[in-house]
Amino acid sequence: MGFFDDVKDTVVNTSRGVGNKAKELAEVTKLKNAITAQERKIREQYETIGRLYVENYGQQPEAMFKEAIAAIHSAKTIIAQKQEELNELKSVKICPACGAAVEEESAFCNKCGAKI
Ligand SMILES: [Zn+2]
Repeated sequence: MGFFDDVKDTVVNTSRGVGNKAKELAEVTKLKNAITAQERKIREQYETIGRLYVENYGQQPEAMFKEAIAAIHSAKTIIAQKQEELNELKSVKICPACGAAVEEESAFCNKCGAKI
């Protein structure tokens, strides 16, 4: 084999290598995405289990859940306070029909359509 044949072979092998690498990378991405999707499903199910537990047993939780449930209640209280502050800042009114925050100058609720 002459020099140019060697060069040609090298170019062909290198581009094949690049092709394989790209394919490999695409496969890695696909697998990682599949894993991430399943992990998300698991997180969503944990969340569902937690919400169902709080909804059904939150009033009298077993000892091991008390701290977590108290943290949720305390976070909800803080959210309500911050929302109140936000409403005051944005000078919004509360819809008498559905309780949604509505811009002060709006004549109708943008959530339920009730006249303000
Ligand atoms: Zn409304």
